[in-house]
Amino acid sequence: MDNQIGLYIHIPFCQSKCYYCDFASYANKNEQMASYVSALKEEINQYGILLQNHQINTIFIGGGTPTVLSPHLLRTILQSLFHNFNIKSEAEITIESNPGTLDLEKLQLLKECHVNRLSIGLQAYQNSFLKDLGRIHTVEEFVQNYYLARSLGFDNINIDLMFSLPNQTLRDWMDTLKNVALLNPEHISCYSLTIEEDTPFGQWEAEGRIKLNDAEADRAMYHYAGWYLNKMGYKQYEISNFSKAGFLSKHNLVYWTYKPYIGMGLGAHSFYNGERYHNTYNLDQYIKLSGSIAVLKEDAEKISLPMQYAEYIFLGLRLLEGISVEQFNHTFQVSFEKLFGKKIEKLVKLGLVENNKNIIKLTPKGLDVSNTVFAEFLPE
Ligand code: SF4
Repeated sequence: MDNQIGLYIHIPFCQSKCYYCDFASYANKNEQMASYVSALKEEINQYGILLQNHQINTIFIGGGTPTVLSPHLLRTILQSLFHNFNIKSEAEITIESNPGTLDLEKLQLLKECHVNRLSIGLQAYQNSFLKDLGRIHTVEEFVQNYYLARSLGFDNINIDLMFSLPNQTLRDWMDTLKNVALLNPEHISCYSLTIEEDTPFGQWEAEGRIKLNDAEADRAMYHYAGWYLNKMGYKQYEISNFSKAGFLSKHNLVYWTYKPYIGMGLGAHSFYNGERYHNTYNLDQYIKLSGSIAVLKEDAEKISLPMQYAEYIFLGLRLLEGISVEQFNHTFQVSFEKLFGKKIEKLVKLGLVENNKNIIKLTPKGLDVSNTVFAEFLPE
């Protein structure tokens, strides 16, 4: 249905900053949490009015670490969402969390407030790597939190993992995957570590204090994850995402299938009516503007048609099921063949893409160099 939309809520607080992280998140800002949530509540009120004719089919509360907020503040946000939006009864409502910030009270509260998908950031199953990444938790705390969530009835859990960590061997990565798959979560995400300049890791890499895996080792880890998780009953449905049948991330599918979404909170991005924009990245300003959505909005850009075609294609190609030429033609009322026929032919010859009865997909070789393939569709 056309009036459906996804919501993203950003919580920019963490207990401490991981060494590799350049997300919009702050440690040691506890004194601003309450005023942040008040401003967020205002923003939710305002978007509630704007989107009163829309149905919400997914909500993703991400960060940062949303679960560093107190139970009271978490309840305020969730109640405000339910009060202001028309949320479908079967909507997927996800919250991101870190082990060490979850306890019985918070998990019970999340359950009461209709959160039905829990995403837990674990990253690695060895305490030495967790320490080297600057994570706040141990493997033991993760396991405790996981079983606690299960005992309270959370039956849709995602575990986030990272590979290609400094000094990580294929054997370490195999152990991580094995231990996590044995817990039997419904969904597993596997991302290759990327080093961002303005982080301690960026600095340490420049100083030669840490060294990343070479491309070959990185790809070996990625391929192993695909093979092993498939053997353990997880289907790879996106470049970095694996799920049990029926547990694909509905919220992320909003992004990959080019559907509209509204982001609320610090620096949150939106895509609505063919326009992209994001909120201010300045925490003090966000709080001061207290939900004035027109003023919070920055870098608004109406997406040109050629750019919409490109975005539709490269987001869709992230999915292993690929994109349907027929669906593309129907969405944009143009001919995919006329626009991209030659490019597809070239990519097929290079073995990066396959075209099977007008379903276009990345090949395994294309998956390894997906960004190069995506760049082919950008307007000149
Ligand atoms: S917990 Fe997540 S958002 Fe927070 S610092 Fe670590 S990686 Fe960044």
